[in-house]
Parts: sequence; structure tokens; C-alpha cells
Amino acid sequence: MAEQPSDIEQTRVVLTEIPGPASQAIHARREAAVSTGVSSGLPVYIERGAGAILVDADGNQLIDLGSGIAVASVGHAHPAVASAVAEQAASFIHTCFMVTPYEEYVAVAEALSELTPGDHPKVSALFNSGAEAVENAVKVARLATSRAAIIVFENAYHGRTNLTMALTAKNMPYKDRFGPFAPEIYRVPMSYPLRDGLTGPEAAARAIQAIDTLVGAHNVAAVLIEPIQGEGGFIVPAPGFLPALSAWSIANGVVFIADEIQTGFCRTGDWFACEHEGVIPDLITTAKGIAAGMPIAAVTGRTELMDAVHPGGLGGTYGGNPVAAAASLATIKVMRDENLADRAREIGATITARLERLAGDLGAIAEVRGRGAMIACELVVPGTLEPDAALAKAVVTECGANGVIALSCGTYGNVLRLLPPLVISDDLLNDGLDVLESALRAASS
Ligand SMILES: *Cc1c(COP(=O)(O)O)cnc(C)c1O
Repeated sequence: MAEQPSDIEQTRVVLTEIPGPASQAIHARREAAVSTGVSSGLPVYIERGAGAILVDADGNQLIDLGSGIAVASVGHAHPAVASAVAEQAASFIHTCFMVTPYEEYVAVAEALSELTPGDHPKVSALFNSGAEAVENAVKVARLATSRAAIIVFENAYHGRTNLTMALTAKNMPYKDRFGPFAPEIYRVPMSYPLRDGLTGPEAAARAIQAIDTLVGAHNVAAVLIEPIQGEGGFIVPAPGFLPALSAWSIANGVVFIADEIQTGFCRTGDWFACEHEGVIPDLITTAKGIAAGMPIAAVTGRTELMDAVHPGGLGGTYGGNPVAAAASLATIKVMRDENLADRAREIGATITARLERLAGDLGAIAEVRGRGAMIACELVVPGTLEPDAALAKAVVTECGANGVIALSCGTYGNVLRLLPPLVISDDLLNDGLDVLESALRAASS
């Protein structure tokens, strides 16, 4: 099938109030049909997309600075991905890899072995969602070590299933009244330079002391960590924190699991965020950016750990579905061909320079942080470190009204985060940042 370039121009167009009447009409139907437990940040109903633009039911063209939470890194409906999906769907859509396998699954696993950090022998297992990958990484670590305890961190986010709720830190909205939660999960302090003032080695020593005294190293199956925390607030640990935890894990026979579901696949300017400090995880979980929006996720890791599992111990009906696997292979090819890791660094430099300049004017910005095209600013009451979630919310709302999709995050809800598609043009990025800057200036004055 030929790759059709999109007719959607890469410009922001606001034709109606946002959400406009057509979106509002669909929203009224939604309220009668969809659970309120599932909510939407900006209830515009999307009809089409291309690159960094989403077109809603009223014809408004919105700049996407969130990529559907770090998923559409190669842009919306990339023609190479769209045609790979169409071709695969036309050949076959499903067999269940556990019943009769197919090459696409194998090819995704080969790509993961090649791209993930470390030259050691590796294998993968494929799943449908990030949470499912994290659950399976925990299963592998427990079985391979015959230990139960899992170490997680303050501000961590690992998903919404029962086990991953237990691994996730924040109560509202993820955990509240959904318990009881899975046992043998222990939460220790994270490195959070803005708020703890510790160096990486100091913060690691604090975490390790907590593990040794509260759990005991010999009981620990795995240390599970996001190399840059995502939902928790784009918290970048101080240099040396991750290497120290990795070294401690090696010394104690503990499986070091990097949850790179949000940070992976070129987002931070490398294929994986662990590479920045040369950390080689034993297991790595991936999803989100891996397939431009088709549901697929993976656990990749040391063969001796992954193959400790008995045949049939891992799997699922849809895991590594052929259409999603084809999308993943096409996405990885686009990332390689278009050199999107480098582009992520350029985008990061543009965003950081602009936000730093703004931070000089606005006392509400306590810190601009992140790496590559994963940049955030943390908002506070000026002159203090008191989180200002209301300001973050006001800015996100104002951006939406002006045709820019921006996201907030953070344990305290006070962090604005930018995760643009890595194919965004400088012009479009700057237009989006102009809107964000005006919104920030207006809301904090
Ligand atoms: C999004 C996310 C998950 C959960 O992925 P789902 O596909 O939503 O289940 C897990 N870990 C991290 C770091 C994430 O960002």
C-alpha cells in the first residue's frame, strides 16, 4: 500500500470555542454512555491527526504537546506506520502467539535485544499495556530470585492494575478505595534534587539504608524504578543516584528493573534514559512510544532471568498482536531513519531555553527540568516550595482553549509537562510554546 502524505497542514487553527459545538454534542452522548471513572483532560473529540496536529470534530487544529502521553513520538498517523498496520490487518490480525506464532513478534523481540542497553544475551516477552509489562517483570524477578520483596520509590507511577496500583505512589486518583493492595511492596525515598537538596550518591545511600533496615537485602527480588519519573512529576534523579542503586542491586543479587515505559524510544534523546548514565538494567519494561499508539508492551532482559520461567508461565491472548507488532517495527524504523533521538535533544534545548527565560520573569516556576523532549516546569507559590496545582490547572485549561494540548503531572499536581511528537517542526513548537507562555504569564500575574 502506498504511503499517503497527509493533507492536514501543520498549523494551529481555532475555528470555534474549544470544545466546540460538535465536540459538546458527542460529549453529551458520552455522559450517558461512558463511566465517569474514565475522564478526559480536554473533551474535544478527535477526528483526524497528522504529525503534531490533531483535528477535532469542529475542524479546530490543535497542537499536540502531549503525544497521548509520550506515545505518538513519530507523530500522529505516520504514513509508514499507518500502511504497516493496514497491510498487516489485511494479511491476518490474530492467531495468538501461544497457539501459532508469527515472525513479527520475533522481529520486535530482536529489535528490543539490539536497542536496549547492554550487550549481554537478552530475550523479550510481549504484552498489551505498560501495566501488564510491569506485572510480568515482577513475576520474572520473583521467580528468578525466589524472593518476594519489591522496592519502589516515592512519586512512582507504574500503572493501574492491582499489582501496579500497589507499586504506584499517589493515592488520588489512582488508588483511593481500590484496595486491598498486593503485599511485599516497599516504598523508599527517591532522589528529588529540588526538594531534598541531596547529591545522587547521598540520596542513594538514604534509599539503600531504608532498604537494608526496613526489608533486608536478602529478601529483595527487585528494585523497580523509572529513570526519570513520569506521572510523578518528571523528576530527574541527581547524577549518580541510578548508578549507585544499580551497583547495590548487582552486589546483592537483586534484579534492577528500569521502567522505561514513558522515557523509552528516543523520548529523552537516547533510545533509553538509562543510557545517559551508562546504567544497564537487568530487566527493562517498554510500551508507550514503542508503536505510535498501537497497544503493545514488552519486558526485555537477561536471558538467564527471563528463561528461568517455565514454558507457559508468561503470555496472554493478545500479547504481541501482529498488527501492533507491525506498527512497532515501522515505528522503530521511522525513529532510526528520521534520527528522532537527536531531534528529541534539539526539541529539549528549544523548550528548556524558552522556559528558563520565562522562569527568570516568573517566581512561580521553581525549576525547569527533564531531558530531551521530556521537559517540565514545577510551579510553586513564589518565594516558597509550596506546590501550586491550581496554577498548573489554569495554564492547561487556557492552553486547551487556545488550541494547544498541554499536560500536567506530579504528586502534587503542580508540574506542567511537555512531551511533543518528535517530528514537530520548530515553527509549530514555538507557536505552542507562545500559547503556553502567554497562559503562564496571564495565570501567574
Ligand atoms: C504509562 C506508564 C505505565 C502504565 O502503562 P499503561 O500502558 O497505561 O498500562 C507504567 N509505567 C510508566 C513509567 C508509565 O509512564
